[in-house]
Amino acid sequence: VVGSGAAGLLLALHCADRGLHVALATKGTLQESNTAWAQGGVAAALNLEEDSPAAHVADTIAAGAGLCDVEAAEVVAREAPARVDELARLGVAFTLSLDGGLALTREAAHSHARVAFASDHTGQAISSTLADKVRASAGVTVHERVTAVSPIVSGKRCRGMWFVRQDAVFPVVAGDTALATGGVGRVFARTTNPPGATGDGMLLAGEAGAEISDVEFVQFHPTALAVSGAPALLITETARGEGGIVVDARGRRFCFDDDPRGELSSRDVVARSIFKRVQRGDEVFLDLRPIGSPDAIRARFPHIEAACARFGLDIATQPIPIAPAAHYHMGGVRTDLQGRTTVQGLYAIGEVACTGLHGANRLASNSLAECLVFAARAADDIAGRNDRPQTRSAGPPDATAAEPESIKRPADASAIAAAMWDAAGIERDAKGLSRLTSFLSSDRLESARLTRNAVEARSVWQTARLIARAALLREESRGSHYRVDFPDRDDAQWLAHIVFERESPRISRLRAVF
Ligand SMILES: Cc1cc2nc3c(=O)[nH]c(=O)nc-3n(C[C@H](O)[C@H](O)[C@H](O)COP(=O)(O)OP(=O)(O)OC[C@H]3O[C@@H](n4cnc5c(N)ncnc54)[C@H](O)[C@@H]3O)c2cc1C
Repeated sequence: VVGSGAAGLLLALHCADRGLHVALATKGTLQESNTAWAQGGVAAALNLEEDSPAAHVADTIAAGAGLCDVEAAEVVAREAPARVDELARLGVAFTLSLDGGLALTREAAHSHARVAFASDHTGQAISSTLADKVRASAGVTVHERVTAVSPIVSGKRCRGMWFVRQDAVFPVVAGDTALATGGVGRVFARTTNPPGATGDGMLLAGEAGAEISDVEFVQFHPTALAVSGAPALLITETARGEGGIVVDARGRRFCFDDDPRGELSSRDVVARSIFKRVQRGDEVFLDLRPIGSPDAIRARFPHIEAACARFGLDIATQPIPIAPAAHYHMGGVRTDLQGRTTVQGLYAIGEVACTGLHGANRLASNSLAECLVFAARAADDIAGRNDRPQTRSAGPPDATAAEPESIKRPADASAIAAAMWDAAGIERDAKGLSRLTSFLSSDRLESARLTRNAVEARSVWQTARLIARAALLREESRGSHYRVDFPDRDDAQWLAHIVFERESPRISRLRAVF
């Protein structure tokens, strides 16, 4: 298992519980992940008196703008409640309601309150609980600070990965390999994601020959901190779900100008609404004061309060300056409902994967649900199969199994991230994207020693290229992908996925409209 977010940790535990020997390798510490930064919660239809898996499916599909895989949505809606119960049993300290059950909150574009949460640091609660269980598991060997560099492929089957630790390059040979390496936020200059989110796993899967789909769909979160010198810290969507409002400098709630649902319409709509104002030089704020008294606000959002206090802001008494930032990748390695990629022996779980759940836009809090549900399903699949070759006899290596020595990477990955934010961010057009694709041409690469930094810089470059190419190809606007020069959704041409195989794109059309 490569990666130690919610997907990798739960997959490792489930595999170990089924008697498999698991090596879990991750490029930082066990708790370095996007998961550890998640705030809002996990979506699951837990209150069956008011909610239902069918309503969860309907909301997911409405957000996905025609590109959701209905079966993937059904699987997640049906199985997420059991996974949340499992986390609670494992010791995740979810916030409870007065009757002792799990408290549920509401987020944008959900028709019911169905988000289980642990105060405003749900991800940290999940990450630390699962990491403790993994460390205690006899079936899992943990390797921290090792970075996956390239896949070992033999006879069209993935047989493991090459890793680098400091200066040493070494192979880990495995019967099955699962990438749980998270998303791509760092490919954009302004992002809510931590430093490791550089798309490594998607590219490793691509190198192994796996199909990669829907990469143009990047979700931009509407409400990230916008204070000079501060990172774009996320201010959770539940802040709006519980009554926070978005206003301009005069205190006007302008989101209603763009959508009757105001601040609670889908993320792409709110993000564009805010972006338009920020682009023309207006300041935009998230005002939490309508939620309740200063004490109530501090009690509900203690981590956000502490994070903003570091930059001189009191969220309980002052509006918070905000602007959108890159947040989540709907695209990734194409998988089936067991997390299998199109390469034998290679799985992709969590944000790195494209199961089809999110379509063109993710519903808030569906990503942790997807990580957990597919981790359990992949473990069932891996444990239930008996066609696995012996791990020790990897067979004759082909070209991709050769030991990597150096790496081609761009000299300045931050220039790429800046160019991506400008041309492949919230508003895109042919002119900007064409300029971007020429900027990303390979003559900017140089040879470097194998290190985590070099791998990440290479990933930023390769991921940027895929996203820019797909965004240029898709001449319409849908979900999170907004083309100023093609502002309408075009089902006649574009009810389709853009699928890359060995860097060549093809357009795969759908048969039905959802
Ligand atoms: C600020 C923030 C708030 C969020 N809030 C929510 C929320 O409330 N609800 C929700 O559902 N979602 C939320 N999300 C999204 C959600 O957190 C992620 O989609 C989810 O946690 C991804 O989990 P994962 O296990 O797939 O990947 P991650 O948690 O990102 O873990 C990836 C792991 O892979 C490792 N890795 C990567 N590349 C390599 C490599 N080459 N070699 C070795 N290891 C590697 C990383 O170090 C890391 O350990 C939020 C995201 C952010 C950034």
